[in-house]
Amino acid sequence: MFKTLLRTGLLGRCPGCTGHSMFSAYYDIPVACPNCALRYQVGDGAWLGAVAIGYGFGALFAILAAVVELTWAPLRAAGLDPLWTIAVLGLVVTALGYRPAKSIWFSLLFTYGFMRWPDGTASNATPTPQR
Ligand SMILES: [Zn+2]
Repeated sequence: MFKTLLRTGLLGRCPGCTGHSMFSAYYDIPVACPNCALRYQVGDGAWLGAVAIGYGFGALFAILAAVVELTWAPLRAAGLDPLWTIAVLGLVVTALGYRPAKSIWFSLLFTYGFMRWPDGTASNATPTPQR
């Protein structure tokens, strides 16, 4: 599972073939992989997990930035308002982190069998030879 997450989740690769990008645009994923035909669409609301992970990235950044600011005060020393700077940078990190969050989430969905191969078998099942 962690091997799949590292190979596909963090790099944005298709969890089925690992040789092709999962994304057709920065945030968009196609219905199926153009290389191995793994169907990415798993049902309504599947994107919510990716949003939760993305917000988690932003929250983690804000907490770490607040700890750094409270310890060494680099933002205050630079003449910036720490609260607004951390809030704005947290939003930027959340927006930029949505792509890897989506990739990690869909790799988890693949690992636990929520995606389907073209023949209808679960994504965590042994692939059939006709693919
Ligand atoms: Zn693929």
